[in-house]
Amino acid sequence: MKTDDSREGLAPACASCGMKEKACRTPGGQAPPFCPATLDAEAVAGSLSRYADPGIAEFARQASIQEAECYVDRGPGPYVLHPTKTRTQETAEFARRMGYRRLGLAFCAGLQDEARVLAGILEAQGFEVVSVVCKVGGTPKETLGLTDDQKIRVGEFESMCSPIAQAAVLNAERTEFNVLVGLCVGHDSLFLKHADAPCTVLVAKDRVLAHAPAAALHTAHSYYPWLKTVR
Ligand code: SF4
Repeated sequence: MKTDDSREGLAPACASCGMKEKACRTPGGQAPPFCPATLDAEAVAGSLSRYADPGIAEFARQASIQEAECYVDRGPGPYVLHPTKTRTQETAEFARRMGYRRLGLAFCAGLQDEARVLAGILEAQGFEVVSVVCKVGGTPKETLGLTDDQKIRVGEFESMCSPIAQAAVLNAERTEFNVLVGLCVGHDSLFLKHADAPCTVLVAKDRVLAHAPAAALHTAHSYYPWLKTVR
């Protein structure tokens, strides 16, 4: 990827890396000129100092153990990946691994059914669950300066999504780990910025693709070429 700034116009572009034996995955492997490990070597090396914090180190250690535990029949020798765990199970296992008991669910009003099912699963697995919907507080969208024609249902009352309130509630409830379920783009950003506890995303909202946004990427060459046009 070209940029017009420093480093001879190069910017990190792992997404375009075509190296067969990648340096980041194979000792002695190859790296293209746009490899961030070269372009931003200080940042990459400096990041390791963050693991000196015991809390971060333990969180990272457990996350990596959980990553491997999502596959079965592991052992020495050539391995054929055999994943067995849904993200729901992965989330519950990681929370248990970390010793969390009190979980927060920050969910979108459009996914209340899914949130209820998730809360039931997590409670059945022994967690305390605190959940809060995006519309908490019923604050009118006009509070944000929106006009009628900027609402979904023009001319009607609409509560704004209140991700900062969702975070504040879960902070007040002292949740130890928060799970996002279908928050809108941008609303999720605000929640993540204001939540005290570490967070994970279980469901990324996609109103068209049953909350599986990667489907548009899988079919970008066929049914979604127009995603490359600005609309
Ligand atoms: S870190 Fe370097 S070698 Fe690895 S994918 Fe990115 S560009 Fe390729």
